[in-house]
Amino acid sequence: MARVLIVEDDFAIRAALKRVLTERGDAVAVAGTGMSGMSVLMQEQPDIVLLDLGLPDIDGFGVLGMLRAVSDVPVIVITAQDDDRSIVRALDAGADDYVTKPFGADQVAARIRAVLRRSRPGPDEDDADLVIGELVIDPRGREVTIAGTEVSLSRKEFDILLVLASRVGVVVTKRELLAEVWQQPYGGADRTVDVHLSWLRRKLGETAARPRYLHSVRGVGVRLVNPGAGTP
Ligand code: CA
Repeated sequence: MARVLIVEDDFAIRAALKRVLTERGDAVAVAGTGMSGMSVLMQEQPDIVLLDLGLPDIDGFGVLGMLRAVSDVPVIVITAQDDDRSIVRALDAGADDYVTKPFGADQVAARIRAVLRRSRPGPDEDDADLVIGELVIDPRGREVTIAGTEVSLSRKEFDILLVLASRVGVVVTKRELLAEVWQQPYGGADRTVDVHLSWLRRKLGETAARPRYLHSVRGVGVRLVNPGAGTP
C-alpha cells in the first residue's frame, strides 16, 4: 500500500482514480487545486503524487516547482497535452513519469507501482561508498561530498552522478542516462539530460569549459574521471 496524493481538478477523473487506488489498498488524499495540493502534501507527506498539469489556480508546472523546492516525493504528472514539449518540461522540472489523458485508472496504478519500485532501493543494492579522488558518494544515504564538504544534489542530479560514478572513465551516452535515470528511452529529450548535467556541474564546482570530474564527449555523452589520476 502507498499513500497517494491526487491533485486534479476534474472531479470524475479524481473520483475514478481514488476508487481504483483505494480498492487496491492505497491510502488516497485528494486536492482540486494547486494550492490545496501543496497544503495536503505538507500535512500528509504522501509516498507519491499524481499531479494534473492543467489546474485552475496555478498550473501544474508551478506546483511541481514549489513541490520540488520542499520535497523529493515521486511525482507522476497527468497531462492532456501529449506533445513532447510539455512532457520534457515536466521531466526537466522533476517529474518521475507521466500519463496522458485519456487513460485507464489501472494503467495509472501500474505506473505508481513502477515509480515506487524505482524510488525505493532494494535491500540487495550495493551500498558501499564510491570514492573517486576527493569525490565521495554514499549510495545508501544519498550523500555526496567533495574534499569532505557536502554537496546538496537533487534526486535526478544524484542519480546521474551515481550512474556515471559507477562507470568511472567510461563514456555514458545521454540515451543511457535517460534510460537509467528517467527510465525513459525517450527520443529527442537529450536536453533533459543537458539541463540536469549543467546543474550537476555547477554544484560540483566546475563548468563544461573547465571540467574536473565531468567530461563531455561531443556528440556521444559524458564520462566521469578522477581529476587527480592524470589524463585518462
Ligand atoms: Ca485539469
